[in-house]
Amino acid sequence: MLHIGCHLSPSNGLLSMAQTATSLGADTFQFFSRNPRGSKAKSLDETDAAAMDAYLREQCFAPILVHAPYTLNPCAEKPETMQFAELVMADDLRRCTAMRTPFYNFHPGSHVGQGEAVGIEKTAALLNRILSDETDTIVLIETMSGQGSEIGGSFEGVRAIIDRVGMQHRIGVCLDTCHVFQAGYDIVNDLDGVLTAFDRVIGLDRLHFLHLNDAKFELGAHKDRHAAIGEGTIGLDAFRRIVNHPALRELPFCLETPHEALDEYAAEIALLREMTE
Ligand code: FE
Ligand code: FE
Ligand code: ZN
Repeated sequence: MLHIGCHLSPSNGLLSMAQTATSLGADTFQFFSRNPRGSKAKSLDETDAAAMDAYLREQCFAPILVHAPYTLNPCAEKPETMQFAELVMADDLRRCTAMRTPFYNFHPGSHVGQGEAVGIEKTAALLNRILSDETDTIVLIETMSGQGSEIGGSFEGVRAIIDRVGMQHRIGVCLDTCHVFQAGYDIVNDLDGVLTAFDRVIGLDRLHFLHLNDAKFELGAHKDRHAAIGEGTIGLDAFRRIVNHPALRELPFCLETPHEALDEYAAEIALLREMTE
């Protein structure tokens, strides 16, 4: 069975969010650890967290994903900006442990003129300061589109971060279909070739999650603009091959497509479930 869900808001509580996922036909989902633009996190309601955890088990959910705020820059030039990213991510990991969420996804940052090598060193150093065996949560590096001075826009860049992490069992990857396509990996015409490259450079055993998004721009545009499934440059046929691919089909997929209403996600989830063979 395809494991699929969408990005949801925890504003009505964690258990309620998981119940919403069920109502949409989802068996996984993703949510922001805190306001995606700001730093303030509501204090964790432990009763609600335990209720969500029990519900997810009882309903046989696939693993879910917590997403770091996308405004953090883990390789910023300014020490204050980097320290802020570190504080937020360390706190998020404590929250993930309390919520028993298995995966925490983040964007590896933008080097803004410092050069990719410095960005990679700084991101890895930050990870080395926050990873510990006090948490079971695995931190996922998201594959990026390479927009501006983003690092993580190539498999080699992601691998270079992983290589510098001490706690190898605490680090993995989340592949975003829109990002890799706009980074120049042709998942439309050569999905097998892209996955072979991923396996050779990073290792498919590091891949724990996928973000399923169509793209607004063409292959290699280095823009980060998502489109609804089937309404972008990736297209339905490619998504059919992605969700059925033997190397991917058991993994959880999460939609981050631009929709206003939840029923549009329900429709997209149903469409993708119909496509699975
Ligand atoms: Fe992301
Ligand atoms: Fe994403
Ligand atoms: Zn994106």
